[in-house]
Amino acid sequence: MNLEQQLNELTGRTYGKSISACTDAQLYDCVLQLCKNKIAQTPVITGNKKVYYVSMEFLIGKLLSNNLINLGIYKELEHILEKNKKNLSAIEELEPEPSLGNGGLGRLAACFLDSIATLGLSGDGIGLNYHFGLFRQVFKNHLQMQEKNEWLERNGWLNATDISFQVPFGDKKVTAVLYDIDVIGYENGVNKLHLFDIASVDEGLVKQGIDFDKSAVEKNLTLFLYPDDSDEAGNLLRIYQEYFLVSCGARLIIHEMKEKGYDLHHLYEHAVVQINDTHPTMIIPELIRILSEEEGFGIKEAIAVVSKTCAYTNHTILAEALEKWPLAYLERVVPGLVPIIKTLDKFVSEKYRDEKVRIIDKDDRVHMAHIDIHCGFSVNGVAAIHTEILKQSELDHFYKIYPEKFNNKTNGITFRRWLLSCNEELADFLAKTIGPGYRKNAVELEQLLEKRDDSRVLERLSEIKQKKKRDLIAYLKEHEGVTLKEEAIFDIQVKRLHEYKRQQLNALYIIHKYLEIKGGKKPETPLAFIFGAKAAPAYVIAKDIIHLILVLAELVNQDADVNPYMRVVMVENYNVTYAEKLIPACDVSEQISLASKEASGTSNMKFMLNGAVTLGTQDGANVEIRELVGDDNIYIFGQDSKAVIDHYEKKDYDPEKYYKKSSVIKRVMDFMVGKEMLSIGRKENLERLYRELLHQDWFMTLLDFEDYIRVKEQAFADYRNQEKWRRMMLTNIAKAGYFSSDRTIEEYNKDIWKLTKRAEDTP
Ligand SMILES: *Cc1c(COP(=O)(O)O)cnc(C)c1O
Repeated sequence: MNLEQQLNELTGRTYGKSISACTDAQLYDCVLQLCKNKIAQTPVITGNKKVYYVSMEFLIGKLLSNNLINLGIYKELEHILEKNKKNLSAIEELEPEPSLGNGGLGRLAACFLDSIATLGLSGDGIGLNYHFGLFRQVFKNHLQMQEKNEWLERNGWLNATDISFQVPFGDKKVTAVLYDIDVIGYENGVNKLHLFDIASVDEGLVKQGIDFDKSAVEKNLTLFLYPDDSDEAGNLLRIYQEYFLVSCGARLIIHEMKEKGYDLHHLYEHAVVQINDTHPTMIIPELIRILSEEEGFGIKEAIAVVSKTCAYTNHTILAEALEKWPLAYLERVVPGLVPIIKTLDKFVSEKYRDEKVRIIDKDDRVHMAHIDIHCGFSVNGVAAIHTEILKQSELDHFYKIYPEKFNNKTNGITFRRWLLSCNEELADFLAKTIGPGYRKNAVELEQLLEKRDDSRVLERLSEIKQKKKRDLIAYLKEHEGVTLKEEAIFDIQVKRLHEYKRQQLNALYIIHKYLEIKGGKKPETPLAFIFGAKAAPAYVIAKDIIHLILVLAELVNQDADVNPYMRVVMVENYNVTYAEKLIPACDVSEQISLASKEASGTSNMKFMLNGAVTLGTQDGANVEIRELVGDDNIYIFGQDSKAVIDHYEKKDYDPEKYYKKSSVIKRVMDFMVGKEMLSIGRKENLERLYRELLHQDWFMTLLDFEDYIRVKEQAFADYRNQEKWRRMMLTNIAKAGYFSSDRTIEEYNKDIWKLTKRAEDTP
C-alpha cells in the first residue's frame, strides 16, 4: 500500500470516512496513528554501549511535524493532504505541546535526543511525566497568572509499558510506572525517551491555579515541574522528585544491563550516564547504593565503577542554581543515601585539605555539584567562555585537582526542528541553492557564502523573511489581538524571564524610544518589539518586569502619536510552538545577558540559522557566533565578562551613580514610575522594580544602557541599507552550521561517551 492508501485505510477503519471527508481533528488522530505504524517498522538503535541522558526536563515541543520529517514522509503526506483539500499545518496546530520543560536546559536535552538518534547512536532520555508541566501563563491586568497546563491526550505519543518499580522514601513508598516516547532519528533508527510517573497520582489535588497540597507526595509527585520552592514543603517535594527520577533511572539502567547479560563490574563499558545539571546528581549515590547493597560490591569497588560511568554537564554559574540541600532534608526524604553521601565526603576529606571541595560543608549542606565532580569522569561547560569561567573562577579548586576531567561542549540545536520544520521555505531554498547535503552535514551551509554577491539569492532570502513576518503577523493578530506592520524591523527577545537575561534593559530602551518619538524624533523604519517569557511563580522582580513590559505595550500601542512608528507585544505563554513561529520572522535577535552570566544560550543559534542578526553582549555562545561571522555581521555592546567579574570582586558597581551621571538614564527611569505609567499599571510593582534597579541592580542593567542604545541605533540604521543587511543575513545562515547539535553530539561521543555507531559495531 502506498502512503495515501495507508492513510485512507486508517480514516476508513477509524471513522468510516475518506481522507477528504474527515475533520482536521479526525485526520490528526489518523496521521498520528500512521506515524506510529511507521515507527513500529523502524529499527531500534542498538550497540554494545548506550548513553542514558538523565534530566528533570525535556522541552520536546510538538512531535508530529518533526516525526514526519525524520521518517522522511512529510512532503509526501503534505501533498496527499493537499490533494484532498486538507492542510497539514492546520492539523499540526491541534497537537498539544508536551509540557515537560522550562527553558534552554530542557530544550537542549530535546535537541540532543534528536541528534543522538540521527547519528545512529544508542541513547535514551530518562525524565518525569509531569501531568501539568511547568504552568500555562496567562496575563490578567498586566500581571502574569499561572494555570495548570493540561497536555496529556488519551491517544498521544506516550506509550504505556509494563515496567514498574517500587521507590522507597524515608517515610513512604510509591509505585513507579513507565511511559515511553519514541525518538526517531532523521532517516535513522529509533531511541526512547523514558518518562516515569507514579501510579497513585491524583490530578484532582489541584484546585485553584497551580496550588496544591505539597505534602501529599503520593498524589502530587508528578503533577508539576519545579513546584514553587520558596518554602520548606516545596523544597522537600523537589527532593522527592529528584530521588524518584534517579531511583527509577538507576533501576532501569541496571535492569537493561542485566537483560543484555553484561557484568556490572564492567558497567562503564556498556553504559554512560550523562547528568544534565545537578538535579539528577543523586543517581551517583543511588547506583553506588544498589551495587554495594544488592549486587555484592565492596563500597570502594562500587564507587570506582560508578565514577567511571557518570559524567556531569554544568549549565550555570549563578550561585543560586547550584543546588545545596540541607543534610536534614536528605535524612528525611532519602535516608538510604545519607550514609553513602557521608562516606563519599569522608573519602574526599581524607584526600584533600581544601574545605571548598568538601561534599558536605560545615553548615551541613550537601553540594550536589561536588558529588558530580568527584564521582564523575567528565565535567563539561556548554560554551567556550562558560567552560573557561568554570575552570578559572567558579570551579577553580576542582580544576586544580582534576584538570583532565574538564572539557567544553558548546551547545547546539537540531536543524530538523529549527530549520526544516519551522522554516520550510528557507530550508527548500537552501537545498535548491547549495544542494541538499547541508541537511546531513550542516557545515555545508558555508557554501552559501559563495552567493553573497548574487542579488537573486539575497532578494529571495529577504522575500522568505517577509513571508515569515506575514505569517507571524496573522498569528499574533489572532492570538494576541495586536497588529504589526510588515515593513517594521522585528526585534525579538524570547527566553525565560530572569534579571540576568536583562529583559528590563530592552524595556528601558523602549521607554527611551517612546520618549524620543513623543519629542518628535521619529524612526525612519517602524519598529516592532516582541517579547515572550515566563517568570518563575515565586520570582517577584521577574514578574514585575513582565508587568512593566505589559504596561509599556498598552501605553505604546494605544498612543496614536507613537503607534505608527513602534509597537510592543508580549506573547502569552511562550513555548516551543511559539518559538517556531517567532524565530523565522526575526530581524534583530536580542541576546543581551550580563556578560559572564549566560552559560551558552541556544535561541541565539536558532535566530542566526533563520537569518536574524544578533544584538548581544560578549556572553555565552554569542562569543563564538561573533568569531564565526566576524564583527561586521553582529552587533556587540557592553562590558565584557572580565570587567563584570571585576565589578563583582571589587563590589564597585553602583547603579545610582549611573542614574545621576546620565540625563538619558534619569529620564527613562523616572518615566517608569511617572503618571503615564501609573495610569495604566500598578504602583506597587512599578515602584518596586524602580527601587530594585536604582539601588540593587545585581545584574548591572544601567552599566550597559547607554552602549546598548548606541549599538541598537546602529543596527536599526543599517537595516535601511537592505543590500548590506541581506548580506549579513546570508553570512549568519552560512555560519550557523557549527551550531548543529549533531556537531555537539559528535563531540560528546568522541570525548566522553565513546559509543560505536550501529554500522561500525562488530557483529
Ligand atoms: C531555545 C528555547 C529556549 C532557550 O532560549 P535562550 O534564549 O537560550 O535562553 C527557551 N525556551 C524555548 C521555548 C526555546 O525554544
